[in-house]
Amino acid sequence: MRFLMLCFAVLLLLVACGEQTTMSIEDMRLRLEGNRCRAVLDKAAYELMSWEYKNEQRVTTDELLRSALPDSLLTCPVTGERYIFDGSSTDRTLTCPSGHGSVKLMEE
Ligand SMILES: [Zn+2]
Repeated sequence: MRFLMLCFAVLLLLVACGEQTTMSIEDMRLRLEGNRCRAVLDKAAYELMSWEYKNEQRVTTDELLRSALPDSLLTCPVTGERYIFDGSSTDRTLTCPSGHGSVKLMEE
C-alpha cells in the first residue's frame, strides 16, 4: 500500500512537472517576443537620439517622430501594432501597446 502511494506521488509529480514544462515554453515564447520588441524599441530610441543630435531638434510630436524614424522602428515586430509616443512630458516615452514594454528617451 505504501508503495502504491509512493507510485501515485511520483506520478503526480511527473504530471505537475510536465505541465510546468509546457508553461515555461509558453513563458519562453512570450519572453522572446518581448525581447524582440524591446530590441526594436531600444534601436528606435537610439536612432531618434542620433536624429535629434544631427538635426538639432527635439522630437515632441508624432509627425516629427514619423519623419525621424522608418516604419519598421515604429511598430511592434510581434503584433505589428504601432508604438505609442508620449512627447508631452519631460520623460518622453515610446511604448508598445501590446505590453512588451517601453523605452525612455534620454535628454542630451
Ligand atoms: Zn511589442
